[in-house]
Amino acid sequence: MERLQTIPVRVGSDLVIGGGAPLVIQTMCNTHTSDVDASVSQCLRLYAAGAQMIRITVPGRQDVASVREIKDKLRAQSCNVPIVADIHFSAETAMEVAPYVEKVRINPGNFHKDHQKARELFKQFLKICRDNGTAVRVGLNHGSLGSYITDRYGNTPHAMALAAMEWLQMCEDESFDQVVVSLKASNTVVMVQAYRELVEMMKQNGRIYPLHLGVTEAGGGDGGRIKSCVGIGSLLEEGIGDTLRVSLTEDPEAELPVARQIADYYANPSIEPEDERISAALRWGPALLKRKIDSIPSGILSSYLEDEIMQAARRRFYRPEYIACPGCGRTMYNLQQTFEEVQRRTSHLKNVVIAVMGCIVNGPGEMADADWGYVGEGGGRVSIYRKGEPVLRHIPDNEAIDALLELMEKESWQTTPHKEGDL
Ligand code: SF4
Repeated sequence: MERLQTIPVRVGSDLVIGGGAPLVIQTMCNTHTSDVDASVSQCLRLYAAGAQMIRITVPGRQDVASVREIKDKLRAQSCNVPIVADIHFSAETAMEVAPYVEKVRINPGNFHKDHQKARELFKQFLKICRDNGTAVRVGLNHGSLGSYITDRYGNTPHAMALAAMEWLQMCEDESFDQVVVSLKASNTVVMVQAYRELVEMMKQNGRIYPLHLGVTEAGGGDGGRIKSCVGIGSLLEEGIGDTLRVSLTEDPEAELPVARQIADYYANPSIEPEDERISAALRWGPALLKRKIDSIPSGILSSYLEDEIMQAARRRFYRPEYIACPGCGRTMYNLQQTFEEVQRRTSHLKNVVIAVMGCIVNGPGEMADADWGYVGEGGGRVSIYRKGEPVLRHIPDNEAIDALLELMEKESWQTTPHKEGDL
């Protein structure tokens, strides 16, 4: 497999993404950023577990000081892992934090609600990044493209790729090339199509920027691991991808061994994953997703593993499709425990997409495909969504799963079954 040749992007003094450099694995803190000591401890654990880059949410300008303190404390302990600030809904915060971190991730869908204003602010932001040697990730998510994109192009893989090209063009207009792009989706078929289209567009444009791969809101456990392997593996086996994050609704330390095994499998020489789930998903998932095969030969895998891989490749649906964010410093409740309970109590259902999201700021936007959503509001309260609209608000969290299930039963839920190959 020949890697796609991309522009090298420097992140801090020692790390390069793209330009033929080995795949970089990364993760994200789920501590509250304002809890500096907890964030530092978690960063140290993540670094020891193999993280080459760590992302930290910066919800507002008041959190910039905490990020600086976290970074100073890490450096004082000789931990030089590059820090990436994760920004949503605040271009001002992106500009304020940019001088102090190695990289900033912005989401074009929410950089500013007015698109023209977003373009102006992005230009100012790029100047700050250039002056400080800060790299940028243009991180689009299928669930939060923003109306300025969906109104023009629809909510499709093509729209995701076109939107990314628009933001890359803005970088080029400012002669800024230290930019990485991601086009994540929780649906593996959408995700793979979006990256492929973007690669074609960048090739035509003559400049290929490095790609950050990930299946967003993949959930946890076996399903989350397998879905990530199928989506990310499908692209890596085509030589597409320079850095990756496996998002799991678990402790972020759990993401790193999965990411490492994926990266090693596609390295030269390839290392076979020791985890049977990862090995099976990488071996069969991409071929199923790309329709090179229609099934896994019988007798090779357990029927459970076979079902999970078939569902991750969107070839057969045998249980609900779950969307669950990995959680971050915005999460206001025990996300992992709640997600596990939702799964346990709904696993008998079919043809339904259920989302469990950590916060009300990004959660509703990110769960675009979900029939039902459980969204933490903060303060021990939860909102229940149906098809993107809130149907119950401010439910105490100890009653919220019952409320969700009651609503689902009341509606005697009927959906059009997922068809093989549905986007
Ligand atoms: S949806 Fe989840 S991962 Fe995304 S910002 Fe909210 S809590 Fe963090």
